[in-house]
Amino acid sequence: MKYSSYMLHNFRNIPQLKLVSPEIIEAIEIVGSVLPFKTNNYVIENLIDWANVPDDPMFKLTFPQRDMLKPEHYERMRKVISNGFDKQRIKDAANEIRRQLNPQPAGQLEYNVPMIEGEKLFGMQHKYRETVLFFPSQGQTCHAYCTFCFRWPQFVGIEDLKFASREAELLVKYVKEHKEISDVLFTGGDPMIMKTKHLETYIRPLLEANIEHLRNIRIGSKALAYWPYRFLTDDDADDLLRLFEDVKKAGKHLAYMAHFNHPVELEGEAVEKAIKRILNTGALIRTQSPVLKHINDDPKLWADMWEKQVKLGCVPYYMFVARNTGAQHYFSIPLIEAWNIFRKAYQSVSGICRTVRGPCMSCMPGKVQMLGLSEAKDEKVMVFRMIRGRNPDWSARPFFAKYDEEAIWYTELQPAFGEEKFFFSDELNKILTPEEIEYDLE
Ligand SMILES: *Cc1c(COP(=O)(O)O)cnc(C)c1O
Ligand code: SF4
Repeated sequence: MKYSSYMLHNFRNIPQLKLVSPEIIEAIEIVGSVLPFKTNNYVIENLIDWANVPDDPMFKLTFPQRDMLKPEHYERMRKVISNGFDKQRIKDAANEIRRQLNPQPAGQLEYNVPMIEGEKLFGMQHKYRETVLFFPSQGQTCHAYCTFCFRWPQFVGIEDLKFASREAELLVKYVKEHKEISDVLFTGGDPMIMKTKHLETYIRPLLEANIEHLRNIRIGSKALAYWPYRFLTDDDADDLLRLFEDVKKAGKHLAYMAHFNHPVELEGEAVEKAIKRILNTGALIRTQSPVLKHINDDPKLWADMWEKQVKLGCVPYYMFVARNTGAQHYFSIPLIEAWNIFRKAYQSVSGICRTVRGPCMSCMPGKVQMLGLSEAKDEKVMVFRMIRGRNPDWSARPFFAKYDEEAIWYTELQPAFGEEKFFFSDELNKILTPEEIEYDLE
């Protein structure tokens, strides 16, 4: 299959859209002017069930929805666009709304950015001791965009929000000097959008440097779901798989972190074949997704998704909670509801699917998992555990919050048992700058 993409300027050419109402088309145009929008022929033809549009989850995952903008923002954009204002005025209005949507990566530009020889390494993030994130500059886009994406600001052309790096050399140097690093995680966007020859310029030097403490090369990608032909028929698919094999030959583990949001993304010959080809290189595929209203807020769907993944040879890894940015109000569900979805799905699958951990917030103090509800000292409480802490010593520690049916993010939680703060609060406040606290930056 040959890749063709659709964005705001050409989405009206999608033949299937001829059957949807003018209101829906208008919403795509209006919301798509503020939040990023991009899809492709594989998603349109294979993943969306057009008989089920507008309710279809894959439609909602890829096409901007009216309610993703607050009514006042929607109305404002509608006016600017329908008045036929020029491009610059539309852009200015969109940027003003974007600034009100907590565009987090703006903060990631400054925080968790490592230094080498007194220079900041933009395009890298080192928050957890063992793992450094790397954002290759050619990998900062995707085969299609998810409407919930927390990386949305980097796709909408607010230039100074981009963080990227061409500095393969500095990456190697940094990893070499930091013996605590066992994992380099390539992320984006989607690194699999890169030509193999570009990906190689980052991975080969890492292998050739023979860094003993580097054990795992991880690649976070949604390509299996949105463009499995990346591993099948793209010009450089075979070269890519050879590169994966060479990672293994160099004695490193290649961990392919696959993003799947819905079981339909695991169906069909293309994705099955692509998974097989990746596994044949000796790589392992681990899977993750946030739990999202309108898309996958159903325990049966999660159980189905994990079972399909295991059947295809993948290992379920994380169930996340939607982050507090962009259209969070549209996709979020309360933590207690997310836990109930997790619990019911987890209870209905066998042990081999239970490698998954969730629901989990990837937030400022660390990766925080909700373990459940309990009662102690006559108080109903929510129980959490730090899977990973910004301070490694916080990991694996439990903590308790007041029962709160509405809380959707850790910042809304109150400590239980009349405590004033969580066990990590004092230290976290010492580490953080006022900006990080104000904007709740990761
Ligand atoms: C999630 C995450 C990682 C990887 O964490 P694992 O638990 O090892 O998968 C690394 N860095 C950051 C900033 C993360 O959010
Ligand atoms: S594939 Fe990942 S980075 Fe790309 S739009 Fe979706 S969530 Fe965002």
